[in-house]
Amino acid sequence: MKYQLVHPDSGEVIASGVVERIGDHDASVEHTQNGDTQNFSGAITNHREALQRALHLFDECGTDLRTSDLLAVGHRVVHGGKSFSEPVLVSDEVIAEVDRLSSLAPLHNPVNLIGIEAIRELLPDVPAVCVFDTAFFHDLPSHSATYAIDHEVAERHNIRRYGFHGTSHEYVSGAAAEFLDRDPADVNLIVLHLGNGASASAVRGGRAVDTSMGLTPLEGLVMGTRSGDIDPAIVMYLRRVADMDVDAIDTMLNKSSGLKGLCGENDFRTITSMVDDGDEAATLAYDVYIHRLRRYIGAYLVDLGRVDAIVFTAGVGENAPTVRRDGLANLERFGIVVDDDANAARSRDARRISTGDSEIAVLVIPTNEELAIARKAAALVR
Ligand code: AMP
Repeated sequence: MKYQLVHPDSGEVIASGVVERIGDHDASVEHTQNGDTQNFSGAITNHREALQRALHLFDECGTDLRTSDLLAVGHRVVHGGKSFSEPVLVSDEVIAEVDRLSSLAPLHNPVNLIGIEAIRELLPDVPAVCVFDTAFFHDLPSHSATYAIDHEVAERHNIRRYGFHGTSHEYVSGAAAEFLDRDPADVNLIVLHLGNGASASAVRGGRAVDTSMGLTPLEGLVMGTRSGDIDPAIVMYLRRVADMDVDAIDTMLNKSSGLKGLCGENDFRTITSMVDDGDEAATLAYDVYIHRLRRYIGAYLVDLGRVDAIVFTAGVGENAPTVRRDGLANLERFGIVVDDDANAARSRDARRISTGDSEIAVLVIPTNEELAIARKAAALVR
C-alpha cells in the first residue's frame, strides 16, 4: 500500500509512505514526513490495519489528519468497468458498483474497497474520491476495445478491452506535450509504462486509441510476474493435459510467469546484472521482453501513422537505459534515433534521449500517479 500527502497545486509532497508484506508477521511501514523517516515493523493483518498504522505515523509526526485541512482522499481503484469514465465521489452506490466489478479484478477491487471503507470510518468528514485506472481508456475506439469472440457472450459478460495504468498514461501524455511545448490536442504519442506491471498505449491528440492491457491487466507486454500475450489455447491445453484447475493457471500466469517465470527473477536490476554475467535464462527473458516491446511499438507506429514522441516511464522505463536502447535499436528508417550519451545519463527529470535529427522524439518522463490522483480528486471536490 502506497500513500502520499500532497499539495495538488504545487505538487509538494508533505509526507509519503509504503506498507509492505501486509498479512505477514514481519510487515513494515516506511513513513517519510518533512525529511524524517519513521519505520514500523511487525505484524499487520490486513489493509485496514495498514491504514491505521499509516494514520498513526502521521500523528506521531505531529499531523492529525482528522483535524488538518484535508481537501480530499483520492483512492486509486483498478477496475471501473463500463460504469466509470471519470473520478467520482465515494457513496454507497459507488461502493456497491466497485464491489460488483470485483469479478473483473478479483485481486484489486476488493482490496481497494477495504481502503475506501477504512478511510470512511477513520476520516468520516473528508470527501473521498475514486480515481479509476481504466478511465483513460473508457472511450477507446470500438475496433480496439472489441475482442473477436462471440459477441453475445462478450456482451453478456462485459468482455472488452478496458486497459489499465490509465492515470499514469494520461499524466505522462500531458507532461510529454508540455515538455515538447505543444498543444496536447496536436500531439501523437506512444507511451510505454514499464514497471513491475507494464503496458503500452497509443495516444492521439490526448485521447487513448489503443492499449496493450485488456479485460484484465494480464494482457500485453511481458511483465515482472505476468505473461502478457499468450495463445489463449494454452489455458485449455493446461486444463486438459496438466491437470491444473483454473485457479492454478490464473496464479501461474499472474504470479509466476513473465520475467520471473523465465529466469526466476522479476527485479530488473537483478536481471540486468545476470545478463551482464552471461546467465542464459536471464538473457532469454530479456530478449523475450524486448521482442514483445518492439512488437507493440511497431503496432502503434502503424496505428497512429504519425508519431511525435515515444515516451518511457515507470521503474524500468525511467531507470533502465538498456531497455530503451534495445527497444528502439535499428529504427533509423522509421525516424527514431536514440542518443547513446543522453540515454545513459542518469536523471530524475523529464528529458529527451533522442538525437537532434530524430524525427520522432524519444522522451523519459517520470510518472507521478499520486499527484495525478490528488489533482483529479481536488478538481472534483472543488
Ligand atoms: P514500478 O512498478 O514502476 O515501481 O517499477 C518496478 C520495477 O522497476 C522493478 O522491476 C525494478 O527492478 C525496476 N527498477 C527500479 N529501479 C531500477 C534501476 N535503477 N534499473 C533498472 N530497473 C529498475
